[in-house]
Amino acid sequence: MSDPYGTGDQGHRAFWADAVADEIEARDPEEPIVIKGGVSPSGVPHLGHFNEIMRGYFVAEALRDRGHEVRQVFTTDDKDRLRKLPRKLADLEWNVVGLGEVDAGALGRNLGKPYTDIPDPFGCCDSYGAHFTELLRRSAAAVGVPIEIVSNTELYESGRFDDAVRHVLEHRETAQHVLAEFQDKVDEAYVPFFAQCHECGNLTETITAIDLDAGTVDYVCEDVEAGDDVIEGCGHEGTATFREGKLPWRFEWPAQWLTLGVDFEPFGKDHAEGSWPSGEAIAREVFGFEPPVPMTYEWFTLNGDALSSSAGNLITVEEVLELLEVEVLRYFFTKNPKKQRDFDIRRLDRLVDEFDRFERIYFGEEDAEERKAELAERAYPMVVDDSETRPIRIPYTFAAVLGMTDDRELRVQMAQRSGHLPEGAADAEIDAALDRIENARTWAVRTDNEFNYRLAEALPEVEFDDATATALDELAEAIESDAPDEDALQEEIYETARRNDVPVGEFFGAGYRLFLDEDEGPRLGPFLAAMDDAFVVRRLRREG
Ligand SMILES: [Zn+2]
Ligand SMILES: [Zn+2]
Repeated sequence: MSDPYGTGDQGHRAFWADAVADEIEARDPEEPIVIKGGVSPSGVPHLGHFNEIMRGYFVAEALRDRGHEVRQVFTTDDKDRLRKLPRKLADLEWNVVGLGEVDAGALGRNLGKPYTDIPDPFGCCDSYGAHFTELLRRSAAAVGVPIEIVSNTELYESGRFDDAVRHVLEHRETAQHVLAEFQDKVDEAYVPFFAQCHECGNLTETITAIDLDAGTVDYVCEDVEAGDDVIEGCGHEGTATFREGKLPWRFEWPAQWLTLGVDFEPFGKDHAEGSWPSGEAIAREVFGFEPPVPMTYEWFTLNGDALSSSAGNLITVEEVLELLEVEVLRYFFTKNPKKQRDFDIRRLDRLVDEFDRFERIYFGEEDAEERKAELAERAYPMVVDDSETRPIRIPYTFAAVLGMTDDRELRVQMAQRSGHLPEGAADAEIDAALDRIENARTWAVRTDNEFNYRLAEALPEVEFDDATATALDELAEAIESDAPDEDALQEEIYETARRNDVPVGEFFGAGYRLFLDEDEGPRLGPFLAAMDDAFVVRRLRREG
């Protein structure tokens, strides 16, 4: 038995993907090496689905780097039946809508049918399954991962699954026997095939006869249990070919490995406890081949809660890419898949800071322990498109400060003054560095955090008492003569307030009123220190 939890335990490798690649290489696989993932196109593809894609991607890259030819295949399990309606759907432009905004009644009438036989609720693709597969394809393209999507429906219809179906039905006693070790309700009557009813289109589980020579089964369309619900059958009795139906998932998965020649497959914990142990046994004992190298990954949570399409707690890759550069998102998946992680939108600044450090380590600008340096050396070139050129990076929270103004010149000036943009940088480099501002601004607005303010470009209408006015003038004077750095300026604000008997909180409030036309804002010292002194001095003096 293979231990899917053990795969990718790093051992002597700094990068887990190299440890997995070692295990694959040890089996001396045929070229091209095939790496697979898969998903049911049941609803909006979200960040959680990217575990399947990105874990496979890094293993594929590690193998390619060692000179192997690798295909990264992704099966869309679109012959599965729709069992329940998702709470959220998305159109091809990623507008996420509730079930109430589409014809939910029409969808409801299709429970029990394969995704590829249900009309697209948005009317733009061939089917419900094709629609959500298209969204997945678009997200993979946005992250720059070249996956080959394989439709399960297509595997049946084209006949590529014929041999696997025939084999399982021919050896159904062995199949019953092996599956019974994993599932209680498997008895002698069990037939590992669901036929699609010619009358109503539902997948039915009642098979009354098998004709291996003709390649058909006889069925009765009876009720099917789906979770707590029952999907009603129409009672029709008919005959279906091996292409007009499907294997149950526990047989279908090994059939995919066999038919597609899969060498490695990552999966979540649900499969590790359920269909992996049975799939492994079915591969060996029913089909007679060695299953692929397995790897279990931990799920992550979104803002502390489980990611779920059906419950509606999800973030799409499209949304993530409005908040982060694609290389930061890729970096997130270089982390150890064995650790449960939270994708905390409020603290995305930490993830970006961590990425920036990873990048500095790669370029030898920051010391790191040996293992971290090795990891950066190995994984960084897989995360960025160009690992030769060192990009200029403005720290994410500072980019959020720059997002308080739309004035490009002011942004550049502030970034230069704070030391985050070297003087003399080429325009293209500056533009690339400034791109992060849009991400950070979107983050500030979305989380409504301490950076969600707008710089008051004209002097707001203000009135201060004499003590505050004097203190503001003195602060202007100090900035004009000393040009303090951010810490010194923060200290200067406190001292100026105390010296003039202005309560510190009120004095900060005066600053926020002048610069943001708000009652509160980010740390005032660093914020003012980054801006042009002449502008700050003029504003503190209420001159413009
Ligand atoms: Zn569509
Ligand atoms: Zn029927």
